[in-house]
Amino acid sequence: MSILELRDLSVTYRTEGGDVPAVRGVNLTIEAGDTVGLAGESGCGKSTIAGAVLRLLPAGTRVDGQVLLDGEDVYQMNPGRLRAVRWTSAAIVFQGALHSLNPVHRVGAQIAEAIRVHGSVDGRAAATRVGELLEQVGIPASRASRYPHQLSGGQRQRVLIALALACEPKLLIADEPTTALDVMVQAQVLDLLASLQRDHGLAMLFITHDLSVLTHACRRLAVMYAGRIVETGLGVDVFRDPQHPYSRALAGAFPTIGDPSSRLRPSGLAGDPPDPSALPTGCPFHPRCTVAVDACRTTDVQLRPVGSASSEASAACVHVEPR
Ligand code: ADP
Ligand code: MG
Repeated sequence: MSILELRDLSVTYRTEGGDVPAVRGVNLTIEAGDTVGLAGESGCGKSTIAGAVLRLLPAGTRVDGQVLLDGEDVYQMNPGRLRAVRWTSAAIVFQGALHSLNPVHRVGAQIAEAIRVHGSVDGRAAATRVGELLEQVGIPASRASRYPHQLSGGQRQRVLIALALACEPKLLIADEPTTALDVMVQAQVLDLLASLQRDHGLAMLFITHDLSVLTHACRRLAVMYAGRIVETGLGVDVFRDPQHPYSRALAGAFPTIGDPSSRLRPSGLAGDPPDPSALPTGCPFHPRCTVAVDACRTTDVQLRPVGSASSEASAACVHVEPR
């Protein structure tokens, strides 16, 4: 059974300035134990998808379509059920969460709190489990007594991963978990996530704007642009032989070590993704696309299977022959 299934998911934020259609008709399935990477520049709707999975979006936000977690519709769950599945079915390590640890509590106590709130264990069992979780993420158990500021950025990120693993979720959603870290530490955290995935059969949805970090960590990739998935396929294929011009631009954006800005802006790609409330006509990528033709200004090609019958590839571009 799929651990996560998004069926025609659309998310529209309501603002004073009007509706913001941040996610538009996304289909995505993650099988138990599989790793899926979601790539795309800032503003393409990646975090909105993460928030939609566990109903963590602002009140009033309109969600259409379905989110099935382990076969169960998240938007039909009562509050008690929703609390139970958060952490135990799926847990999220958020973008910018490095600041979400409480500075005045020891990290071990914060992990123990998560264990106690979501499970029925006594204090001693929780303390043992805290030690195990820290060791699992490569931090000596003795550091449980440290305060967040006494740990490095990479260690704090590991603590957050330990926190997310506290209730043994089947799915870990990691939203830009390494973006704030330097390149070396980023690689270590990625290795850690990959080994947790292998050793514990954890399914993972790994979100980042940096396509190159995903190819190592994920079996499958989905590339998002302007609220839609524009290409999916096996990670190696999408990275080595991207079909959609947008994926090609992202795949060409190799980070320059030590230059954080180079990770944020794909090389050779001018401009920014469109404002969701003012999308261009036709293919939303056409104003930035170097191979756009007249049809691209009027026709918005939907995601469709491409390549050989054995491939898992699909793309949404007029230039890519449908299967
Ligand atoms: P990503 O994670 O890919 O950077 P997001 O999902 O954060 O993208 O945002 C997608 C779009 O939705 C952006 O245009 C962003 O400005 C908009 N957006 C995000 N959160 C809100 C919100 N709470 N209210 C209104 N618009 C939002
Ligand atoms: Mg984001």
